[in-house]
Amino acid sequence: MKKLLPFSAEQVKSWTGQYPTPFYVYDEQGIRKTVDDVYKAFAWNPGFREYFAVKATPTPAILRVMESMNCGADCSSIPEILLAKGSGISGQRIMFTSNETSALEYQTAREAGAIINLDDLTQVENLENACGIPETVCCRYNPGQFNYATNAIMGHMYDTKFGMKKEQLFSALKMLKDKGSKRFGLHAMLASCSLEQGYYPALARELFGLVLEIRETLGITLSFVDMAGGIGIPYRPEETPINIIEAGEGVRKAYEEMLTPNGIELAIYTEMGRFITGPHGYLLTHVVGKKHIWKEYVGVDASPADLMRPAMYGAYHHISVAGKDNQPAAETVDVVGALCENNDKFAVDRPLPHTEIGDVLVIHDTGAHGHAMGYNYNGRLRCAEYLLGTDGELRMIRRAQTVQDYFATLDVDSEFNW
Ligand SMILES: *Cc1c(COP(=O)(O)O)cnc(C)c1O
Repeated sequence: MKKLLPFSAEQVKSWTGQYPTPFYVYDEQGIRKTVDDVYKAFAWNPGFREYFAVKATPTPAILRVMESMNCGADCSSIPEILLAKGSGISGQRIMFTSNETSALEYQTAREAGAIINLDDLTQVENLENACGIPETVCCRYNPGQFNYATNAIMGHMYDTKFGMKKEQLFSALKMLKDKGSKRFGLHAMLASCSLEQGYYPALARELFGLVLEIRETLGITLSFVDMAGGIGIPYRPEETPINIIEAGEGVRKAYEEMLTPNGIELAIYTEMGRFITGPHGYLLTHVVGKKHIWKEYVGVDASPADLMRPAMYGAYHHISVAGKDNQPAAETVDVVGALCENNDKFAVDRPLPHTEIGDVLVIHDTGAHGHAMGYNYNGRLRCAEYLLGTDGELRMIRRAQTVQDYFATLDVDSEFNW
């Protein structure tokens, strides 16, 4: 499918004329449409809720959009809890799914009234010591083996650090029940960036099977099943997007076959990040150099400090040359930034229309795990974020970092004079 932009070349020109590049633009209308589709897909389940994964786009303006659409927030750190609360998402609309959790983190989650999702059997005791056992708790499952779990980011489940083995899961639930918990949930995330249409339905079957077994052996009827995130997006033009309505129907089928006849009613939760905002974010960057050595290079003013995924995972991000979308590919280039590291490549051997210094490149599908993964290596400052509102106006939602921000954590003496 041709990768389209929700804004025109004239808009890009006007924005990049006013604001220093690089910067991110998020398309609010696109995000709202996707959230809407998710709620339509699970409308058959009365308790359904999408807990947006805050780590994907930890930005209040985006979280407020989620809040306005009845979403919760999936958090894993104290700052993420504070971001959710500050954006109007509180209490059990916060899911706290953490790993190797500190006592302070448990206390903060408990004070926020969040649902605490335990990653390991040993965490039951840690939780109790930190803040006592809450009435509602969730446990995270790792089956070791799962058909849809093979992919580059997450790998095989037996190789992943998340969740508990089945016997441990059962022990944890029993301990939590004995210690006074009353409402229980089951959580599993067995893929990352999966474009398998059958992933959610297969995961639902796996988890619903456990729901039945847990009721039989422990006498606990679970209140919710959290299928987490992991739904992919078509980064490449030739890839097919997930049909979320169909996926939701697949989960409904499993629910009606496995749970309804057994008199079980429970809420389905999801924690998608990438699927919700990924396709609706764009990184705009100027071409600042053209270099012809052993290969052809297009230099840009963005770097992995702004968008790490290509450097970290070799991830593909589609690139448009603003205003030249209809021109044929004229050169095969590596698109590189300013870091002193050779993995600083947004694209390798990419056919692009002819580019000139001053052109603007639009890097697609950067709305999740993009700006959020930014870092300051090489003294690169992190760039600004803008929201293209449903009113068509572009509004800054995070300013660019300044040198003062970068130096703010240094303990310097009065001799240090920059
Ligand atoms: C990262 C994460 C998500 C979101 O993953 P996506 O691939 O962005 O959908 C959801 N839940 C948990 C526990 C996560 O760690």
